[in-house]
Amino acid sequence: MPRLVMKFGGTSVANLDRIRRVAKRVGVEVAKGYEVIVVVSAMSGKTNELVGWVNETSPLFDAREYDAVVSSGENVTAGLLALILQENGVDARSWQGWQVPVKTSSAHSTARIMDIPTANFDAKFAEGMKVAVVAGFQGVSAEGRITTLGRGGSDTTAVAFAAAHQAERCDIYTDVDGVYTTDPRITSKARKLDRIAFEEMLELASLGAKVLQTRSVELAMRYKVRLRVLSSFEDMGDDAGTLVCAEEDIMESNVVAGVAFVRDEAKMTLISVADRPGVSAAIFGPLAEAGVNVDMIVQNIAEDGRTDMTFSLPVDQVARAEKAVREAMAREEINFHDLIADTDVSKVSVVGIGMRSHAGVAARMFGALSAEGINIKVITTSEIKISVLIDRKYMELAVQALHDVFGLEKA
Ligand code: ADP
Ligand code: ASP
Ligand code: MG
Repeated sequence: MPRLVMKFGGTSVANLDRIRRVAKRVGVEVAKGYEVIVVVSAMSGKTNELVGWVNETSPLFDAREYDAVVSSGENVTAGLLALILQENGVDARSWQGWQVPVKTSSAHSTARIMDIPTANFDAKFAEGMKVAVVAGFQGVSAEGRITTLGRGGSDTTAVAFAAAHQAERCDIYTDVDGVYTTDPRITSKARKLDRIAFEEMLELASLGAKVLQTRSVELAMRYKVRLRVLSSFEDMGDDAGTLVCAEEDIMESNVVAGVAFVRDEAKMTLISVADRPGVSAAIFGPLAEAGVNVDMIVQNIAEDGRTDMTFSLPVDQVARAEKAVREAMAREEINFHDLIADTDVSKVSVVGIGMRSHAGVAARMFGALSAEGINIKVITTSEIKISVLIDRKYMELAVQALHDVFGLEKA
């Protein structure tokens, strides 16, 4: 029998009525003859509440206990959905990550899935089980401790199960009816895409579009999983939503596929750094060791042997970054005159595989921002994306201006 993976996010399982609706949707696929693996998130808001409780209890928490607590929201929804399916006469049972087991690395709160053995499910399906309801976002380390996969990690659970079981498809049900040219909450002009290439989805996700967790797209690309994003609130046909697929399977596409953003970024500048070979290593080595995720980096031209060094980082890592560079200065590994942190910036990016073969995308992007009077603070580019750092108060305006200049509302 063909297998299908269906994943339902937090808003789709927010209360019992919605879980009943999910059970109905799952029942439709069972009736078609599929063996179904359903991956569920916690009820919306639950994971945030659990994270809040951990932070309040213990600001410098033990990451193993953090995972024990924050993984629990998914256990509730998995059990409830299995119960409702049973009420509907569907042979279903729930599985927590450790029961499968979803084997992960030991990097608590950001663990990676290493292996998902299929023998357990194969045996149960052979005995007549129709639906395995899996608690998403969680796994177990080699040490036998509960792990979590990072925020939004249920997407990755779903794709990993689809790969392990060679499922016909992995359907990600969420609160929007597909992947849009930008977050539809920012502009009503955002347009749903029928298809998007893995590479583009990967960039959009890693540049802030939270509709799919980045790692889930990576896995889908590597294991050639047929990945679809669709709404759990509308009844739709087999070709609904957005298919994330190989570049070759897309007939025609715009030069720019979409606009992504990260609202809460920060920018740090080390003023007048003594410039010598090895200075970058001396700055970014300690930052990496302190667990700071440095993103964009700009070094100015040196004058009189001194230069300014600017980099961007998540806003909640500023204190840790400042401590790391000040300690490096105290050890006389680096020397700078001043340190400035700007915590009111956002990152806005345009993404498209068409950029490989089309010149002038950067010029149009900068022109559109300039026409709105938006100052660009830092720029980075790669083969298929251009990112800029701007003042946070202009973020929405920038997204709209870029959506307009690249004509994204039209196919
Ligand atoms: P779930 O709880 O189902 O996992 P998420 O909140 O994680 O849902 O992801 C869905 C949200 O992603 C949407 O509500 C939307 O606001 C946001 N989003 C950001 N960028 C995009 C995009 N390009 N296309 C669609 N949704 C997007
Ligand atoms: N519940 C987890 C979170 O909110 C995982 C997920 O929903 O994907 O991040
Ligand atoms: Mg999500």
